[in-house]
Amino acid sequence: MNKLLLESVYNPEFFKEKGHQLIDDLTKHLDDKLNQKSNKAIHWNDPEKELLFWQEFLKNGEKDHLFTEITKRTTYVHHPNYIGHQVSPTAPITGLTGLISSLLNNGMAVYEMGMAPSAIERVVTDIVCEKIGYDQNSRGFLTSGGTLANLTALLTARKAILKEDVWNKGNQQQLGIMVSAEAHYCVERAAKIMGLGEQGIIKVPVTGDYRLDTSLLEQKFAAAKNRGVHIFAIVGSAPSTATGIFDNLHEIGDFAKKQQIWFHVDGAHGGAGIFSQKYKYTLKGIAQADSVVIDGHKMMMMPTITTALLLKEGRHANATFSQKADYLLTESEHEDWYNSGKRTFECTKTMMSIHWYTLMKFYGLEVFDAYVTNLYDMGATFGEIIKNNYNFELAIKPMSNIVCFRYIDSKLNPSELNQLNAKIRQQLLEDGEFYIVQTKLKGSHYLRVTIMNPFTTTEHLKKLLAKVTSLAQHLLKLN
Ligand SMILES: *Cc1c(COP(=O)(O)O)cnc(C)c1O
Repeated sequence: MNKLLLESVYNPEFFKEKGHQLIDDLTKHLDDKLNQKSNKAIHWNDPEKELLFWQEFLKNGEKDHLFTEITKRTTYVHHPNYIGHQVSPTAPITGLTGLISSLLNNGMAVYEMGMAPSAIERVVTDIVCEKIGYDQNSRGFLTSGGTLANLTALLTARKAILKEDVWNKGNQQQLGIMVSAEAHYCVERAAKIMGLGEQGIIKVPVTGDYRLDTSLLEQKFAAAKNRGVHIFAIVGSAPSTATGIFDNLHEIGDFAKKQQIWFHVDGAHGGAGIFSQKYKYTLKGIAQADSVVIDGHKMMMMPTITTALLLKEGRHANATFSQKADYLLTESEHEDWYNSGKRTFECTKTMMSIHWYTLMKFYGLEVFDAYVTNLYDMGATFGEIIKNNYNFELAIKPMSNIVCFRYIDSKLNPSELNQLNAKIRQQLLEDGEFYIVQTKLKGSHYLRVTIMNPFTTTEHLKKLLAKVTSLAQHLLKLN
């Protein structure tokens, strides 16, 4: 046994030396990207080539270059031309809280394994509950991602609404949930994990403006009931991922109340709008929800991955997973809020609460207002710019910082237009100056941006459109 090797692994001086160097390097990275001293949002590399590089690096690469190579060979979320997926350019201070979490490694399933982060989690989720408009019966916790949080919420819903204890006894009947046809795919995945099957996912079509069509709710509910499906929950998207359009939460909430089913709001992206004085109207009705999901790593500037699941009636969370890991948890008369593993899907988790608390402590809740409001404003501005450019078409007037649009040319048929826009997006990716994504809406291929960087300006966006136009015209000439 090589004890010397282990001693070198745990040498505090080694950590200090590497750490100081890394902070210097990452500071330079931030400065380069934020201030566009380098002109790429992504250094695209083909997956097979990237694989070869890392296989080779493990054998012959220079240790001292490892962190720099990792940093370089990624997508630069801090670059103002990064306008693709909904991951936030982290507030740099949360890079430091991430470091604390990784080094101290307090797993938090039980209070004893993370006293500060457990108590802090209660503080921050209480604040979020209050912002939603919940009363003191509400309670929240943090978990690893919107996907897991949506699954957890639906498990809680099933336990709370049904008389039968499906968690412990298994399922004898066809259960179902209702959800917009435009909802994030993870809702369907959650339903399938719960054994609902295709039959149990009642997809409600969207209106022309991509919102769940609430006028169809009664009819869809009745039809499912006739087929023998027992619906226990409905999910509203705030907003839906592809389009950035918010469902009418207020009307969905009224429907859920009438049918006595659980109302869950998937606010992974836009739930943070509760902090925006200007845009909280997008979430009108959110306080009617039995549960709400909000991702910290999307519209709240935190590192992946941290999600708040908030419940109007906090006590429901204690029943969701009752009760396998009893050995971890002391029985107590009163609710042991401080043992978060009782309510979360995961056992060990990171000290994610400290990102939330640190942002609140350093910058106040105004920082979330400033972030959401600036980005949604820029979404609206970009929508206007596209509307006024005859080479482009908007899928829908944006309600948030997600904007879907496409290049158009009256000489092309729908399938040619789809191909053209797909090619444009591929060329943009390989070129790397801008990073944007794409989506299919009602059969049409759209370019899609999410403006995540508060320093992305109209100049950047106009440059993007100019680039798309020139790529399009070049591609059309080749044909
Ligand atoms: C991103 C997103 C999710 C998934 O959340 P993760 O944190 O990526 O697991 C779920 N729903 C919506 C509406 C989203 O935008």
